[in-house]
Amino acid sequence: MKIKHGTVSEQGLVFWSYDSDGRERWFDPARYLFMKNRAAESQFRRYHQNPEVWRAKSRAGAAKIGPKQRAETYKRWSSANKDKIRDRRLKRTYGISSVDYDRMLEAQGGKCAICWTDKGAVRKKTGSGYALYVDHCHATGVVRGLLCSNCNVAIGKLKDDPLLLTRAADYVSAHKGSRNNYTAPAQMGEMQTQGVTQ
Ligand SMILES: [Zn+2]
Repeated sequence: MKIKHGTVSEQGLVFWSYDSDGRERWFDPARYLFMKNRAAESQFRRYHQNPEVWRAKSRAGAAKIGPKQRAETYKRWSSANKDKIRDRRLKRTYGISSVDYDRMLEAQGGKCAICWTDKGAVRKKTGSGYALYVDHCHATGVVRGLLCSNCNVAIGKLKDDPLLLTRAADYVSAHKGSRNNYTAPAQMGEMQTQGVTQ
């Protein structure tokens, strides 16, 4: 059977291709990456020298295959390349790699950064371990950490606002164990005149 491009050997070498005499070409990972980047750059240049030709080629190819077969091919490819898809999604959405995600998950001990549950860390259906949400600051886009679904929604509902979150914590602490003894916090009137509450 022919070796596939990108196959990693037991010695840690990566398969590049067969040469014109049919000999196998294996590279160390650094060289493999270098070659891969170079090939991608050269393809990028060739595309942009004559984009219409390349577009026509890919349209012709797509038409030949047809939507049904294309969908089937994608389905096969995607089920065999789940890691790649996950990596692309993380990069596109949050600008982090799946390695970054795994590092964060490890640093958090596999748990939600707020409630420390580890339930969200494993998907119930698939058993794969990526169900904690990537939490990011909506203003700056900076990734803050990994949260379970509940905590992610909870801080979002309070607009990710430390003031509101602290006030919520104070509120809940003040009323812990109490029964129907509501008293408005002393500073509330003051806040309303400052227009803080809505
Ligand atoms: Zn949580």
